[in-house]
Amino acid sequence: MRCPYCGSTNTQVKDSRPSEDHTTIRRRRVCADCGGRYTTFERVQLRELTVLKRSGRRVPFDRDKLMRSVQIALRKRPVEPERIERMVSGIVRRLENMGESEVKSEAVGRLVMEALKALDDVAYVRFASVYKNFREAKDFEALLGELTAADDDEEAPPGRAAASAED
Ligand SMILES: [Zn+2]
Repeated sequence: MRCPYCGSTNTQVKDSRPSEDHTTIRRRRVCADCGGRYTTFERVQLRELTVLKRSGRRVPFDRDKLMRSVQIALRKRPVEPERIERMVSGIVRRLENMGESEVKSEAVGRLVMEALKALDDVAYVRFASVYKNFREAKDFEALLGELTAADDDEEAPPGRAAASAED
């Protein structure tokens, strides 16, 4: 496994242990050339997936890329890394279980939105705003309204409360 710092392939595994739910193996590695330390994860991959982009281009499904976009949406949100990890694994399993070797990027986006909606409202809105490529603030407001309506147990922010009082 090539060192991410110096590019050397001369790296050693220092420690291997399974995650709590035994779905991954975590390996701590150290580079013999630059001393850099990093971690790799080993996971089961049920099938090779290809993503069909809106542009018509096909790219291999990349779990890390999916994880990065989810993490951007969840930036500074109070969600434990384990839950994010489980969420992403759940999405990947669902994609694999669709039984197709090719999935549309829209299908991936939909699954991420569903999962984020269950996990964290703010992250959901962030992701959805990028994914749905909103051009108008109106669309955003409609989505926020949808979320506020779904959250009966949470107090509406002052701005929303004022807006509904005018209705
Ligand atoms: Zn190195």
